[in-house]
Amino acid sequence: TVALKDVTKVFRTGTLAVDRVNLDVDDGEFMVLLGPSGCGKSTVLRMVAGLEEPSSGAVFLNGELANDLPPRDRSVAMVFQDFALYPHLSVGDNIAFPLRLAGLEPGRRGERVADVAGALGIGDILDRRPGQLSGGQRQRVAMGRAIVRRPELFLMDEPLSNLDSGLRSELRAEISGLTRELGVTTLYVTHDQTEALTMADRVAIMRKGILQDVGTPSQVYGRPATLYVATFLGTPR
Ligand code: ATP
Ligand code: MG
Repeated sequence: TVALKDVTKVFRTGTLAVDRVNLDVDDGEFMVLLGPSGCGKSTVLRMVAGLEEPSSGAVFLNGELANDLPPRDRSVAMVFQDFALYPHLSVGDNIAFPLRLAGLEPGRRGERVADVAGALGIGDILDRRPGQLSGGQRQRVAMGRAIVRRPELFLMDEPLSNLDSGLRSELRAEISGLTRELGVTTLYVTHDQTEALTMADRVAIMRKGILQDVGTPSQVYGRPATLYVATFLGTPR
């Protein structure tokens, strides 16, 4: 589980990026954080990952206060929109990389990589380099590398925004399928309403650092908490 209690982030520049956010993500839940550019979505995610410290408030992971916990001591994996693969390593070695760091022996690494690559439909390109892949394949590799350690929490920041619309909808279904199959708790950031409403168990809608509404897609779409939410989601009046 993830729990944010009155979490606020003010950057040194004076920008109030996140303003007293309260949010709970249940075990195995797929939570989508939705809102326009600059509303504070990535900052929330980075505080959950430990890449950014809250100015005030508390981040709990599995019920434990995590504010001072370094990223490597949190069982989280994060995928960004720019993939960030190692260009000099093969696809297989990219996916195996976190397992190598964790000291898993080569045989077990190979099994785990084959499992994950099979689930993502990239089992036949393990010998290629990232430079020889399409955007969709690269994103699958990035997801494979993130999920291969079986993290308790999967954080994704606009992972599909660099892909064309056909690939986007294909990968949406794959991501939902994979995370649910693994039962991994997921916090997924997007500014795309369709993505949020089709993928989420629950959607959290942010505006200017403030959480506006949290609920299932049908709740937030059917009974929006504020006029802003209704307008943003396009709920007919
Ligand atoms: P986008 O959809 O464009 O990625 P976002 O919702 O992820 O936007 P954030 O990146 O969380 O938004 O930024 C929230 C606010 O905090 C913005 O005003 C941004 O300019 C500011 N901000 C983000 N990171 C920093 C930083 N390191 N230093 C100062 N200000 C920052
Ligand atoms: Mg962002």
